[in-house]
Amino acid sequence: MQKLKGSCLCGSVSFEVVNAFDKMFLCSCEQCRQITGSAFASNLFIASDRFNWLSGGDAIVTYQMPGRDISKSFCQVCGSGVPWASGDGSKMIVPAGSLHAEPKVAEKFRTFVSEQPSWSSGLDQVEAHQGFPP
Ligand SMILES: [Zn+2]
Ligand SMILES: [Zn+2]
Repeated sequence: MQKLKGSCLCGSVSFEVVNAFDKMFLCSCEQCRQITGSAFASNLFIASDRFNWLSGGDAIVTYQMPGRDISKSFCQVCGSGVPWASGDGSKMIVPAGSLHAEPKVAEKFRTFVSEQPSWSSGLDQVEAHQGFPP
């Protein structure tokens, strides 16, 4: 089966994963906005046995929100979000932006849209450039 590679920005942490994700959540809940510093988190889900670390396991720091099933793993060198295991270990949750190519996803959902900030709505209407504006 086709595999995708992914990594953090500095390259310390890298992994490969089968390119057949079960689902993707584009989540605008308050916790996902704070943990990413952006409008929503973009997370892919896949069975743990379809995922392998290639390097950098010892560079990963994981934050577990007390009392909640919310966590975030990141590279301690560059701060990039990297994959983490679900509570029971059966799934890996992969931040979509960490992948080096396009993921194939069976089902895609936007979640907590009621908490989506207005500045991230209607992006088709925002002036767009290939690079920075002139
Ligand atoms: Zn890094
Ligand atoms: Zn969320």
